[in-house]
Amino acid sequence: MMQDIERILIARGAISDRVRALAQEITHDITEKGEGAELVLVAVMTGSIIFVADLMRNLPMKVRIQLMTASSYVGKTTASTRDPFVGALPDVGGKHVLLVDDILDSGKTLTRVRDELETLEPKSIDTCVLLRKKIPSAMSVECTYVGFDIEDEFVVGYGLDYDDYYRNFPDIAVIVP
Ligand code: 5GP
Ligand code: MG
Repeated sequence: MMQDIERILIARGAISDRVRALAQEITHDITEKGEGAELVLVAVMTGSIIFVADLMRNLPMKVRIQLMTASSYVGKTTASTRDPFVGALPDVGGKHVLLVDDILDSGKTLTRVRDELETLEPKSIDTCVLLRKKIPSAMSVECTYVGFDIEDEFVVGYGLDYDDYYRNFPDIAVIVP
């Protein structure tokens, strides 16, 4: 697997430090929402699996997790072209929701999923992405918590894939073109 990795962009240690800091921010904010406020994590599959797993283990309050599917990339491509397909919606009516995704690129996925969740009338909805590309489409989407802002490069690892591979790579990396 390693021979396809061109360069490590964010090493595992830096990722875990940042994930812990994000969890602290989230914990602080949910506490302000009121006594015993509970959070439902809605994780957009498949790219956010590792991120959400690490994030939730750093959250000390009661949380539930619901998975949902949305995809804009299919197969061997590094550009999101189509409108994202959104699968079955989770049960979030009346709940404090934290929508978790791996990366903000065109912004279509987060916007689309968020709009769909709004129709279910959650008590509140915040968004959290591990990565955001420094491009206008991504920077212009409102997002409550952002792990890292990165250059406009195609990255893999820590849940992110190319043709469904490399999700198990522990660091965030750029692959050989
Ligand atoms: P958007 O809808 O914001 O264009 O893209 C969001 C989805 O596209 C992400 O959830 C992710 O699955 C995929 N994506 C966008 N940029 C990258 C990237 O650099 N690497 C990988 N592996 N996936 C990406
Ligand atoms: Mg995704």
